[in-house]
Amino acid sequence: MIRFLDKSHNLIHFLKIFLIACLCVFSWQKHAWAQDDAAAESYYLQQKLLNQVEFTENSTVPLKGSWQYYPRQLIVKPSAMLKSEPVNLPISFKELTGTNKNYGTFIGHFKLPKEYVGRRIAIFIPNQFGAYRMYLNGDFLLRVGEVGKDKISHQTENASRIAFFVAKKEYFTITIQASNFNPLHGGLENPMRIGLGKTITQQFQQLMMSIGLLCGAVLGLSIFTLMFSIFQRKINRSSIRVFVFGIFILFLALHNLFSAPYAYTTFTNLSWIWGVRLEYLFTYFTIASFLTYMHLLNWRYLHPIVYFVAMSIFIVDIIITLFTEPEIFEYLAFYSFLFSLVVICNFAYGFYLNLKHKQKYSSINLWAVILLCVTFVHDFLLTLNLIESFNLTFISTSFYALLIMFQQSKNYAKHTHYVEQLNNNLLELNSSLDQKVQERTLQLNQLNQQLELQIQIDALTGAFNRRALNAEIQRLFTLTKNHTNHTLAFAMLDVDFFKNYNDYYGHLKGDVILQDLVKIIQRALPPSAYVARYGGEEFAIILHNVPSEVVLNVLRKVLNAVRQARLEHLNRPDQKPYVTLSMGVSWMDQNHPYADIHELMKAADVQLYAAKNTGRDQYQAFRS
Ligand code: GH3
Ligand code: MG
Ligand code: MG
Repeated sequence: MIRFLDKSHNLIHFLKIFLIACLCVFSWQKHAWAQDDAAAESYYLQQKLLNQVEFTENSTVPLKGSWQYYPRQLIVKPSAMLKSEPVNLPISFKELTGTNKNYGTFIGHFKLPKEYVGRRIAIFIPNQFGAYRMYLNGDFLLRVGEVGKDKISHQTENASRIAFFVAKKEYFTITIQASNFNPLHGGLENPMRIGLGKTITQQFQQLMMSIGLLCGAVLGLSIFTLMFSIFQRKINRSSIRVFVFGIFILFLALHNLFSAPYAYTTFTNLSWIWGVRLEYLFTYFTIASFLTYMHLLNWRYLHPIVYFVAMSIFIVDIIITLFTEPEIFEYLAFYSFLFSLVVICNFAYGFYLNLKHKQKYSSINLWAVILLCVTFVHDFLLTLNLIESFNLTFISTSFYALLIMFQQSKNYAKHTHYVEQLNNNLLELNSSLDQKVQERTLQLNQLNQQLELQIQIDALTGAFNRRALNAEIQRLFTLTKNHTNHTLAFAMLDVDFFKNYNDYYGHLKGDVILQDLVKIIQRALPPSAYVARYGGEEFAIILHNVPSEVVLNVLRKVLNAVRQARLEHLNRPDQKPYVTLSMGVSWMDQNHPYADIHELMKAADVQLYAAKNTGRDQYQAFRS
């Protein structure tokens, strides 16, 4: 029992010691963690490994500075046992190790402004040409692609990401494991940014929105240009150049849309390899259509042989891109790009020739082409890592498209204005022509009326002639016949002894007498009376709708007027020393009709004959 008690006492004692030991270890460990936190700043500062990130509410800063790089190690926490070297990000594997086909771990220590502890922080990581895994204080945060130690286990994904976390303390450690087996790019080449979650998100959205807007504008321009050329073609105008330009702008928009990392942000299911292929293919199509456009614009800009060689290179590039791995087609593209130097020289020579021959060329186009060439060369040098800058092609090509859009719209407006002016001129001409035609028609009508009148007028006396008389008497005869209350009187007048007059005074004087007689007769008659020369020295008077009792008075007035004129006639056998007239009158209405006009005129003639035979200088009338 005592043994047992002793044993149990020993056990309790042992447990006591164990408990105290545990407590000691725990308190020491706790002290160690506390020491960790407190010592971290001084340790990292001492080692020049602590990077202060000074972002504000509304601004973000690059997550660069001094990092510890562990070549060919995929670790999570810093290790003093492993070989490492301090590096500044962003950096490519090639700069670090001489080859882009590599893998390793980057570890960086950072200090936040105190006020952001407990806030939601974000790190924006643009595409990094490869695969990476990111850890925060040793905890997994995100991954892109599959990090691997060889080409088989590694899987590239060329996408941008935003990592979010809540800062529990001022200090934090970021670990990035990265791998790459693409010879052209690799490592952490593009700068990351850190800031508040909302600010990073806002900046990212702004970037994507502006890219979307720019791509949308270029796409809209391409659709407009294409449709414009298609409709132009419909109305049979040469528009192949405009069409090719539309294709160029279309590929430009698609190329910009498929440039990393935008395509992967928009189409998250797009596999990396097809993303790269599409980016290269659209680049080829864009440049090929641009060269075709320049070639069509003027052969001087691109000689047929240069154009042919460039197109052949593109065909080979396109086939290789479709059927091989990025490693192969990217190399081929890189070397194909050298031919662009020949193309640029050809452009320069073409523009020089145009300037020399003072040929018309678009200065906007010239500047735009220069801009494009400069940015192409710039980006080529960037690919060669000969300069430190960022990719300009996206901005310059979009700017080029906008410049051309500016020029096209200017041309279109000018052309529309010109056509409008032509139309206006044509309308003015038409209206003045219309006016002229109207004036001429009026003149012609007036002339016709004059002619009509002339052919109705007797040239000597100015009275109506026989032809007019015939028409008028026929018209009035029909009218009178068809209307009750209508009356028609017809008088035949003959100058008495006129042959004697001519014989005595001569024909010329006889003519004057005939003219005077017409004037006297017209004056004596009411305005409605119609006076005509029947022929020779014979005249006719028509009185339409003059009451029968008035008719003879009116005619008597005529005879009186002639008598009173006292036109000398000394060669008359009847001793009257002046000119007189004899008159025969016939008269009709519906109750006293004549069968036809001849009967009416004949009746008047009979009366005239009677007047002649019964002493002259008088009238004889007959009512049927
Ligand atoms: P009566 O009284 O019987 O009518 O005699 P008269 O001499 O007038 O008749 P007659 O028929 O014999 O002669 C008509 C003349 O009128 C003949 C011609 O010389 C003349 N005469 C006809 N036309 C013209 C003309 O236009 N000018 C002139 N001056 N005389 C004309
Ligand atoms: Mg006569
Ligand atoms: Mg006579």
